[in-house]
Amino acid sequence: MHVVQGRHPAAAPPCSPAPEVAPAAMVTLVGAGPGDPELLTIKALKALQRAQTVLYDHLVGEEVLGLAGPGAELIYVGKESSRHTMSQDAIIALMVRLAREGRPVLRLKGGDSYIFGRGGEEAQALALAGVPFQVIPGLSAAQGAGASVGIPLTHRDHARSLVFATGHLRGNGEVDLDWPMLARPRQTVVIYMGVANLPVICSRLIAHGLASDTPAAIVERATLADERCIRGSLATLPALARANRVAPPALIIVGQVVDLQPLLSQAGETAMLQPADAA
Ligand code: SAH
Repeated sequence: MHVVQGRHPAAAPPCSPAPEVAPAAMVTLVGAGPGDPELLTIKALKALQRAQTVLYDHLVGEEVLGLAGPGAELIYVGKESSRHTMSQDAIIALMVRLAREGRPVLRLKGGDSYIFGRGGEEAQALALAGVPFQVIPGLSAAQGAGASVGIPLTHRDHARSLVFATGHLRGNGEVDLDWPMLARPRQTVVIYMGVANLPVICSRLIAHGLASDTPAAIVERATLADERCIRGSLATLPALARANRVAPPALIIVGQVVDLQPLLSQAGETAMLQPADAA
């Protein structure tokens, strides 16, 4: 027998008017890039210029915020690891409330929203709340740092895989990472949020098989005017970072590609100087 699922037209209820609930406004999750405002995407810039309400994190700098339209309301929602301005739940609740009031929201985060930005959690919550959202990607700090200081994150001769990991402590005080996987040869490891745990990170990588002279660097405030890159090895980097008072935001980059930095940063600067010299 052929069975047709679904209601027979004759059984349809009488037409009733739709309830008068205005649809929620759109939330746009925008990645602001690593810091230099010129590294915003054109799409992000356009969205920022049109925005009415911007909820931004501490990693978003003044220069990027300055690109918002004159009428935009800018709301700071935190958060630094030491200073939580608003809990993640409160941020989500605020986005949902504004959207349901019909106010489009631009949620602006450093780097890319979907890379250690909790954008995934926010998108999930918006989806579950029935709030429409879109995501505009941003350059992540690792990409900005690599390009800016002269460390190609992959290279056929040195690194055929690339891992992004977080060096943030778990609730139990442990850096809960897959150390054997991170200590594989011929790969680049980029660790976000790892400054405070740099000594633990370096010693675990050595304990799991990486040579203590494996090149390693820490890049502070990548792409910004006061960017610093400190280069050493797994054995020497913790002391170098301490001596130079490295502070967040900074990324740890581990792998043979770090050794290319002196050549590539110098060559890059020389190349950039040439047109001006010729003028
Ligand atoms: N969503 C962001 C990452 C947020 S987690 C992105 O895609 O880049 C915050 C961490 O990002 C910081 O602790 C730091 O490790 C890194 N970070 C962000 N901006 C940085 C910058 N300009 N220079 C170096 N590291 C940065």
